[in-house]
Amino acid sequence: MKRNSETDNKKINRLLGVWSHPDDEAYLSAGLMAQVVKDGGSVTIVTITDGEKGFPESDPRSAADKSAQRRGELRDAMAEIGVRDIRFLGIEDGEVAAPPQDMLVARIAGVMKQIRPDLVVTFGPDGITGHSDHVANSAIATAAWNSAGFGDLWYAAKTESWLNQWRKQHDDFGLWMTEEPTGVPNEMAEHVLDLEGPALDKKRAVLAAHRSQTQMVAELFGEAAYREWICQETFRSPTPQELRDADRVLEYVR
Ligand SMILES: [Zn+2]
Repeated sequence: MKRNSETDNKKINRLLGVWSHPDDEAYLSAGLMAQVVKDGGSVTIVTITDGEKGFPESDPRSAADKSAQRRGELRDAMAEIGVRDIRFLGIEDGEVAAPPQDMLVARIAGVMKQIRPDLVVTFGPDGITGHSDHVANSAIATAAWNSAGFGDLWYAAKTESWLNQWRKQHDDFGLWMTEEPTGVPNEMAEHVLDLEGPALDKKRAVLAAHRSQTQMVAELFGEAAYREWICQETFRSPTPQELRDADRVLEYVR
């Protein structure tokens, strides 16, 4: 695995990921999590919803059954890389943006105060796929980080060159919920992991465990292209304006 930043050689002892649905953490940070565990650090995942809406409408099972499946898939996925500390917040899928957001901010800040992460990773304001849960997740996690004040905060980001490379497939497969993510210029992606060899195999295994979500996407791409599509994890730091904007989620509910 290659990293592009000298500062990334600093050992991460406690990593916290704050995500909306099981599989977000895998696509955006499986390689990073595996590296932290391999280096002797610990990883905690907060999953705000169980992702119970991530099934075809024709699926007749109850929401509880669907939640149970996705929680199980997340546990299996994290077991692939030795991550056991998973905090399920149990918010209804699709309702992360619904008030009371200050309650969610407080719960996530509580996890931060407990584990004292030296790095927090989450969505940026574009939410990568434009999903309203992801967008709200970004502001909520950022507001929690603002109040708890532990470690660094990185936003998962896609680079413009990555978006250009895959635009045809994204359009053909209708991958984005709303519009394409706001790509960042390559030089703004300060923390880049290019996974290859065993590290990429691990990430592929993590994603395979999320079988209800990833099997079809992998088939659409074809295995070789899918592996190339998932091999890069990129993060950037929030801007001061983004840190200030996030606190508006608190003002909104007051
Ligand atoms: Zn998601």
